[in-house]
Amino acid sequence: MPQHILVVGGGVGGTIVANLLARSLHQQEAEITLIDSSGKHAYMPCWLYLPFNQLSAQSDQLIRPERDLLNHQVHLVTGEVQKIDQKNHEIHVRHHLELDEIVGTDGASEAVYPYDYLVLATGARLVSSDLPGLAEAEDKWHHFYSAEGSLQLREVLHTFEGGRIVITVGGIPYRCPPAPLEFTFLLDEWLRKRGLRDRTEIHYLYPLPRVFPIESVAEVAAPLLEERNVHTTIFFNAEAVDTERKIISSLEGEEIPYDLLVLVPPHRGAKVIEESGLGDEQGWLPTDRATLEVKGQLHIYALGDATDLPVSKSGSAAHFEAKVVAHRLIAAIRGEEPGNGEATYDGEVMCFLETGQHKATQLVFNYEHPPRPPRPSLYYHMEKQLFNRAYWHLVPQGLV
Ligand SMILES: Cc1cc2nc3c(=O)[nH]c(=O)nc-3n(C[C@H](O)[C@H](O)[C@H](O)COP(=O)(O)OP(=O)(O)OC[C@H]3O[C@@H](n4cnc5c(N)ncnc54)[C@H](O)[C@@H]3O)c2cc1C
Repeated sequence: MPQHILVVGGGVGGTIVANLLARSLHQQEAEITLIDSSGKHAYMPCWLYLPFNQLSAQSDQLIRPERDLLNHQVHLVTGEVQKIDQKNHEIHVRHHLELDEIVGTDGASEAVYPYDYLVLATGARLVSSDLPGLAEAEDKWHHFYSAEGSLQLREVLHTFEGGRIVITVGGIPYRCPPAPLEFTFLLDEWLRKRGLRDRTEIHYLYPLPRVFPIESVAEVAAPLLEERNVHTTIFFNAEAVDTERKIISSLEGEEIPYDLLVLVPPHRGAKVIEESGLGDEQGWLPTDRATLEVKGQLHIYALGDATDLPVSKSGSAAHFEAKVVAHRLIAAIRGEEPGNGEATYDGEVMCFLETGQHKATQLVFNYEHPPRPPRPSLYYHMEKQLFNRAYWHLVPQGLV
């Protein structure tokens, strides 16, 4: 009898795991099902470029059908996991029905899926209500953390004639720690090209005692911000936003006025993780840093943004973690000990940081070794652009 492996989440982490399993396991060994609420796969790194018109809203680099990225042996279920019943080893899914199935129903149906092994790759969720003042005035502040948000920000930037732009984060952790810095550098460049830089003050506010969580990266980024005449305020933990008076205030007691606020919304883990009682108070899954098993649970693994691991919430981390989860699951299904090589995760992350003016640097690090970013250059900018294009053909498939 094949074992049932359920993967929840069709982002980069879940998709790679499902594809790696399908490539290695025979159908008699395992039946692999991936459940995703939208059935679509978004490539978030491209959202950074939308506000500056460096990518069109219609670009096929932004989103593709999940089915097109999956090995044919993976069953895809489009539906929302509503409940994880770890005691009975089953999950409850609410499906969205096709038009011809809808008659006599409310457009949805529920089903229960049993599992032998469960992989949780449910990512992160934006919760603007976690920062007072945001949820009640969604159109009065801006972000680039969704395709829609980035496109709205593009509209606003294209009618912007000067003033004070404040860039900050609504809390930690958030996806892709370098993204607010990258946005700041690209914004500086964009304003210069449009002849608006002299009429614009850029303020970068950050909650930590430096401009980036990792010291070696902050040491590279801080002089670049200074060089571009960006005002920085550290130890700024956003406490509330008054969108009428256009002021953001901090726990430290500062008030900073703005004309345009670009704020990374507060993040939490998926709702189902919070509701299942598996997550911590922010909904992140307590995860073993080496084996990626959910602590205290049997046969449940977690990866990517959904975890509480002390690494960047990044596609890159999810990518490296997926190999470990797949490796361990294959061994478990075959009743073998996980071998060497990819049996444990060492905190590996590799990502790029755009510094504007067609330059970028590269961050390579793990739990033990912090990054030593090389001097920003055209080479790393081109590598990042190349990676963004190659992504769709190599990464979700688990080919790299
Ligand atoms: C602007 C921006 C730029 C970025 N740039 C980079 C970069 O340059 N490099 C990098 O490495 N990372 C980057 N990232 C971060 C990266 O995109 C994420 O860390 C990565 O997508 C996380 O992958 P994941 O598989 O863990 O989660 P996700 O990709 O978020 O996937 C989670 C999936 O789970 C599904 N799901 C959630 N709950 C349920 C449920 N109850 N039932 C069914 N399905 C569910 C969701 O629909 C989603 O498809 C960037 C992010 C942003 C926002």
